[in-house]
Amino acid sequence: MDLTVVVPCFNEQDGIPRLHAELLRVLPGVAPDYEVVAVDDGSTDRTLPRLRELAASDPRFRYLSLSRNFGKEAAVLAGLRRAHGRRVVIMDADLQHPPELLGRMLAVLDSGHDQVVACRDRSGEPLSRRLPARFFYRLLNRFCEVRVPDGAGDFRMLTRRAVQALLALPEQHRFSKGLFAWIGFDTAHVPFRGGARQGGRSRWTWRALVEHGADGLFSFHRKPLRGAGCVGALVATAGAVQALRELAGGGPLLAPVLLCAAGVQMLLLGVVGEYLGRIHLETMGRPHFLVKESGGLARGIGGSAG
Ligand code: UDP
Ligand code: MG
Repeated sequence: MDLTVVVPCFNEQDGIPRLHAELLRVLPGVAPDYEVVAVDDGSTDRTLPRLRELAASDPRFRYLSLSRNFGKEAAVLAGLRRAHGRRVVIMDADLQHPPELLGRMLAVLDSGHDQVVACRDRSGEPLSRRLPARFFYRLLNRFCEVRVPDGAGDFRMLTRRAVQALLALPEQHRFSKGLFAWIGFDTAHVPFRGGARQGGRSRWTWRALVEHGADGLFSFHRKPLRGAGCVGALVATAGAVQALRELAGGGPLLAPVLLCAAGVQMLLLGVVGEYLGRIHLETMGRPHFLVKESGGLARGIGGSAG
């Protein structure tokens, strides 16, 4: 098998038939021996019936349906586990990732890379999205052990060994951009202009963006913990200085200082809580997703959990 296309789908009843048609047009010329693995991530619309229809009509089309909405990262993981291709490409169902690019990505991958990342040119996006994104990547890259370039999303093609490396990472909180960077290997970038979403709605509410950002920051380095200690030390020193001033007959600044110190303590508790929450999740060792149905897959539903 030359290529597996993994497509996470959450409420993509219109997107998925469109993407399928596009793939049928493009892929035979690029990688004739291919498969599509679509993962229904607990959609509430008619995505699953659409997937069943497509799998019935096209032997190269396979699907999994998760027992509920587990989030895109889990859906991608589910797809990667079922991929048989020597190379695997992950793409969105909403045609924001142009299938025309696949030929180019394949050529670059075969020229000796293990990952080819399609980097979205953000210039067409509204400033309200571009600025927070830029700020987030600056912050992340400043402290992170691995480099995560802005615009490098999940539209990427991997060799089998990169996929295996990724699948060997067991963590629950999967900040995939960070994981892709963490596994290393030779990575090439191919720029592209992302179009507007075709139908459906984006999952990126502000809340989802903030949560995703926290995942990135807290899963990928321990600096916040160390920083917490530093801030604690600073506040303690300030407190000591203040006490000395009081002793020497200074003004009654005690109340604001106490307030400030209490605030900082709570902030630091929050940081520790972030880690604690993550450790808690990891130690439970729950599977990342559960599969309730699959179709067209050579290997049935066996081992569906995890
Ligand atoms: N998706 C998913 N599970 C979710 C949310 C999204 O599988 O809980 C899929 C969605 O169907 C799409 C891809 O992930 O194929 C990207 O989602 P979206 O288009 O909402 O994100 P954006 O393009 O705005 O980054
Ligand atoms: Mg999208």
